[in-house]
Amino acid sequence: MITYQEALEKIADACELLPVEEIPLRQSHRETLAEDVFLLEDLPLFDNSAMDGYVLRASDIRHASEKKPVILVCQGVIGAGEASQLSVGAGTCLKIMTGALIPPDGDSVVPVEKTLSEANRVAFGEPAEPGDCIRRRGEEMKAGERLVEKGNLIDSVVWGLLATANKASVPVYQKPKVALLVTGDELVEPGEPMKPGSIRNSNGFSMLGALRELGVETIDLGVGRDDRADLEKRLEEGSRADVLITVGGVSAGDFDHIRDLLAEGFLGFKESFYKVQIRPGKPVRFGTMGKTLVFGLPGNPVSCLVGFHLFVKPALRKMWGFREWENPVYRAILEEDIHSPAPVLNFWRGKVSPKGGSGEWRVVPKQKAGSGMLTTFLDANCFVPVPIEKDRLVRGDTVDVIPLGGF
Ligand code: AMP
Ligand code: MG
Repeated sequence: MITYQEALEKIADACELLPVEEIPLRQSHRETLAEDVFLLEDLPLFDNSAMDGYVLRASDIRHASEKKPVILVCQGVIGAGEASQLSVGAGTCLKIMTGALIPPDGDSVVPVEKTLSEANRVAFGEPAEPGDCIRRRGEEMKAGERLVEKGNLIDSVVWGLLATANKASVPVYQKPKVALLVTGDELVEPGEPMKPGSIRNSNGFSMLGALRELGVETIDLGVGRDDRADLEKRLEEGSRADVLITVGGVSAGDFDHIRDLLAEGFLGFKESFYKVQIRPGKPVRFGTMGKTLVFGLPGNPVSCLVGFHLFVKPALRKMWGFREWENPVYRAILEEDIHSPAPVLNFWRGKVSPKGGSGEWRVVPKQKAGSGMLTTFLDANCFVPVPIEKDRLVRGDTVDVIPLGGF
């Protein structure tokens, strides 16, 4: 049986970047940027006012004080976006709006709140320094500098920066298409009548939801019955996706036909590994059908989600061109003991939160850990892995935590 790290390496090796396509900026939110974006012009593009106020020559109000304000005559107004012909003459000022171009000979802006005005006469009760309230051309970044790195998710901030950089269209990696097949004769949809031994199909929801939360394109292959012909048909459809996830039917059961089909190399399936030294989720199968990555996850409601977070999610990020595709690992202080005698890497669910003002993080592990108990994921926001060589973690230990959220 291979280790968790070995499994991750095998998966990473099998991941190929998805093709790049150029799409309109408007449609690119939550896609992955496929090239570095450089600024062609300085940012900001021109000296502009940081405030609504008056632009003047600082030397003109050098002696201003509350007792002896300096009065300047205001000779006009400059709005944002206006290509004004006005300039600041000695002993005068211009009213100026936030973002407006600084006119020639003006060297500072005094916010309107710091002035008193009557008709076109404006009183200044304190001096100003050259440069006050002016945003200088290029002060944020210079033309030629790299604005956003390839492999960034186009989140709200990146989206805004791409607009700033005048990218009307952007190259992105194609969105992964992920097919999901849940299997089992015992599965019954919500609302449908149950028979003795039936169980509700929860994985069809939890797994589809997990995929949707990543923003990938999902193909729901429905519920496959423990019947070869039915499964063959659904697998065939799934093999056209970039990633095919099957849930259930991969273990040692008599009716685990997915296992048999994969073992026989159905649709050219090439197995990379089967079984990883982890709990829950040990009987996970991974391989490829042509260019399609195939994850055969066990059917227990916790096991398949564990497989999803540990293996499927990093693979999807890598294919999708994410610069940071591996699951991050943080550290937190454990609040309750965890017992984990089996020699496996055991992924407990937990809830990590800041430890009131101390700058440290604390993690409360779920006390139940059964692989069939989906409730152990409820309110959980991380895994707490118990290393193979340890049979317990103790309250007060500083432990690894792997956050579940965030993509
Ligand atoms: P399997 O991997 O098919 O042997 O399934 C392992 C366990 O998970 C069994 O108890 C199944 O009933 C349960 N299971 C499989 N698929 C689902 C599903 N879609 N929803 C809820 N439980 C499931
Ligand atoms: Mg089954």
